[in-house]
Amino acid sequence: MKTTAVTIVVVCLGLHVQWSTAQEPAVAAPVVGVFSQHRLKVVKNPAVLATNEDIDEILRSISRSAQRANYGWDKPCSVEFVREAEVINDGRLPIRGSARQHQEALSRVQPDANVLLVLSIEDCAGWQAAGCAPLGSDKMAVTADFSSRGEIVWLHERGHVVGRDHVAQGSSVSQASDIEKTDVMFWNPSKMSTAISEETCKAMRNARLPSVRGVSSPSFLVVGDQLTTVAGQELRDMPEYLRELLESAWLERPPLEAISKLTDRDLDIIRNLLRAEPSDLWVNALRILEMLGAEQDATLLARPLGFPVSSIPSEPDRSTRLKTNLLRSLALQSTSSLGQLAKRTQSLEAIFLLRMVAHTTVAAKSVGQEFSTELARSAVQSLARTGHELALPIVLSAVRGARGDFPAVVSSGRTVRPDPLPGPLLDDVPAFDDDESKDLLTDWTGAQAAQSNIILRRNK
Ligand SMILES: [Zn+2]
Repeated sequence: MKTTAVTIVVVCLGLHVQWSTAQEPAVAAPVVGVFSQHRLKVVKNPAVLATNEDIDEILRSISRSAQRANYGWDKPCSVEFVREAEVINDGRLPIRGSARQHQEALSRVQPDANVLLVLSIEDCAGWQAAGCAPLGSDKMAVTADFSSRGEIVWLHERGHVVGRDHVAQGSSVSQASDIEKTDVMFWNPSKMSTAISEETCKAMRNARLPSVRGVSSPSFLVVGDQLTTVAGQELRDMPEYLRELLESAWLERPPLEAISKLTDRDLDIIRNLLRAEPSDLWVNALRILEMLGAEQDATLLARPLGFPVSSIPSEPDRSTRLKTNLLRSLALQSTSSLGQLAKRTQSLEAIFLLRMVAHTTVAAKSVGQEFSTELARSAVQSLARTGHELALPIVLSAVRGARGDFPAVVSSGRTVRPDPLPGPLLDDVPAFDDDESKDLLTDWTGAQAAQSNIILRRNK
């Protein structure tokens, strides 16, 4: 669905003009909730080919991109994009035209829709563009491009919709800094431009638009699903000492001496193991990676959460029993390992993943309803051990559920703001009773004090 012109013109420009025809009803209530959900209602002329699945694919992909830290300077953003209804086909809608025509047609023909899919945008503030949206109006036009470049366009235009202007307007790629050109709001975005800045995240989370609402949990879990499943070659080549380490039962403390001797290549083998199918070698693999792995290994540590346990019959056969137990224990190990990694490296992605799993509604998607509270509690405990301020809202919610009020938390001599994000009390975060609450807060303040604590030093 690419026209030659679109192939050449990768730019997507915002229209920085006020449209008298594109006024949205004023929405006064701010978004409250852990996640800000952007509901997109897509319309198109029948000649523009796209299915619900095509749209879902792109929305999942941009949700994933927003929810992940794609670069060191980028932070996870608690926002997701979902399809509001079936994609609507309407022959009165334009297939191509100027941005003004697109906006006018949207308002007149399908006033409830906020995304118009077209084949070409011929005049967006004077330029041909892959997407176009007036700043702060809940209506955008995008060309039907379902490549990774198309995804950037959706995210970028949605940035304009929530009021964000361009970054480094007019500067060439060589002039722009890495931070500028990887920003999704870079004026001339490329496939690299996937970073959501703190300001853009804030705007997306706080947008007062009819299409944005707060929800307590995302509609799907973002974990490890982009990882390639690797063949077992590396596993067959696994050195004997590593296989032994992974196969042994660590009854007391982990064999720290053996672990400290592992090489970078050993770690890569472990990473590949975690990219393959779940097995009982994963428990020790997760524990090794939590001790020696890097900040970016959070995605791998979260991998066990991405294998949903299907509903279990009342009398499960042996293989179902074994598999279910394995997946559930790996999920528990995963939250614990994510907590250790986050404590050691302050990995925002690890904290972010734990924050999601701390909700029983999200945990249920991974391990099933009857086990969801257990997994969510484990995530809350892990969060408490990270000492990270982004972990605190969840920890306090769990404590508050039991105590009915927020306890004062003083850390490093200052009172910590109880909730840096909207949506303070979360119904689906499991509550702890009083003793456990005390333990949680002790964990949290203790971890704060010992944040630079490194579990293990490697012998190089
Ligand atoms: Zn733009």
